[in-house]
Amino acid sequence: MSTSHVIIGDGIAGSSAAESIREADPDADVTVITDEGEALYNRILIKEFAKGKLPEAPISIHEPEWYEERDIDLELNTHVTEVDTDAHEIHTHEGDSYEYDKLLVATGGTPAQLPVDNADADGIHHFWTFQDARNIREHAEETDDAIIVGAGLLGIDLAAICGAQGIDGTFLMRGNRWWRYALSLDGAEIIHDAMRGVGVEPVFESGVDHFKVDDDGHVEAAVDPDGNRYDGDFAGVAIGLDFNTEFLAGSDIETDDGIVVDEYMQTNVEDVYAAGDITQFYDTILDERAQNGAWGSAKEQGSVAGANMVADAEEEEFRWVSTYSITHFDFPFLSFGHPTLGDEDCERKYSDTEWRRLTFKDGKLIGGVLIGDLSQQSKFKKLIREEREVADKKELLLEEDVDIERLEEVAPAQAE
Ligand SMILES: Cc1cc2nc3c(=O)[nH]c(=O)nc-3n(C[C@H](O)[C@H](O)[C@H](O)COP(=O)(O)OP(=O)(O)OC[C@H]3O[C@@H](n4cnc5c(N)ncnc54)[C@H](O)[C@@H]3O)c2cc1C
Repeated sequence: MSTSHVIIGDGIAGSSAAESIREADPDADVTVITDEGEALYNRILIKEFAKGKLPEAPISIHEPEWYEERDIDLELNTHVTEVDTDAHEIHTHEGDSYEYDKLLVATGGTPAQLPVDNADADGIHHFWTFQDARNIREHAEETDDAIIVGAGLLGIDLAAICGAQGIDGTFLMRGNRWWRYALSLDGAEIIHDAMRGVGVEPVFESGVDHFKVDDDGHVEAAVDPDGNRYDGDFAGVAIGLDFNTEFLAGSDIETDDGIVVDEYMQTNVEDVYAAGDITQFYDTILDERAQNGAWGSAKEQGSVAGANMVADAEEEEFRWVSTYSITHFDFPFLSFGHPTLGDEDCERKYSDTEWRRLTFKDGKLIGGVLIGDLSQQSKFKKLIREEREVADKKELLLEEDVDIERLEEVAPAQAE
């Protein structure tokens, strides 16, 4: 008898899992369910679409034929409302049920809305889906003034879209810099200058107390907690994600700002797995629970989960150093590992557009941010993977060209 695999979510995690199940078990029944109206597309590239720099076609990754050729059932526009782990079945908004032997939850997150008056007014955009990108592009092409809220990795995409679309943007930030959890003021200044270069003005120690709307209910300004008013009939809000776990209420699946899984992507409930942005996974490098929000990590988690869902397969472990790059400006930007965690750090500025910061935990390198020069990234990722104790070698690590052999001599590998 064939095994029935049900996957909720057709993002990169769910889709990669479907592919790896099919490769490992040609006879398995595989069903992928998504509440979006289109099959897997490249979520990273939707910002280039919104900038007006790419047409729709290259953003799509899988046409419906991709699923047909692999005998995978794809259910579009279908929202899962409940998981019954005792009965081994799930329920959808249309009242349909699907039975499973193995279930994967790969439902990612949904952008959080600001908890302020008029946060859902016309003209206020959140950015996660291709449809969001279409709405943003259409609106951006006809507006002149925008407000951006949320000093993180998605906020800067909205800033870059404004820049590319020739809109004057005001970027409201709560602290004194962009991405304050991973960058010092020195590093962030490089990004602030680049924003100003594309016509987006950062405003610090600010935020949104409420939005003002016109008589038609369309946004016309944001007012910050000090009463300052910033005009704009376009607002982009990127203040973080709410993880899509509401349909798990009533099941025994452990959640904690996401779904808790081990390094094999298995939840606390037998036959139920999770993968992608949604997971609070056991990170075998950090030796603690962690969460990634990056394409490559979600893809790998999906592949690992899919492989482990196939009966009698040898268990695969998720062990990964995540990266996230930004290519909006004249210089590259890359964050790797866990740049917002750690108990120590070091940094250096090399030129007006070159900067490096490294973070350490328990004497080991765990993450960092590189601006301008990414050439050393593979050395740093190797040191992280091998869990080398290098925190007392900061001078060597901050050299423009890191002597990795010298480091390996003085800091023996703890793992691999
Ligand atoms: C604009 C933008 C730019 C980005 N840029 C980068 C980048 O440069 N580099 C990088 O590494 N990462 C980037 N990311 C992040 C990256 O895209 C995500 O980490 C990745 O897509 C996560 O994949 P996932 O499969 O875990 O979740 P998702 O891609 O979020 O997929 C989850 C799917 O599940 C569906 N779903 C949710 N709930 C239900 C339900 N109840 N029933 C049915 N379906 C449901 C959702 O609609 C969605 O289709 C970016 C993201 C965005 C939005």
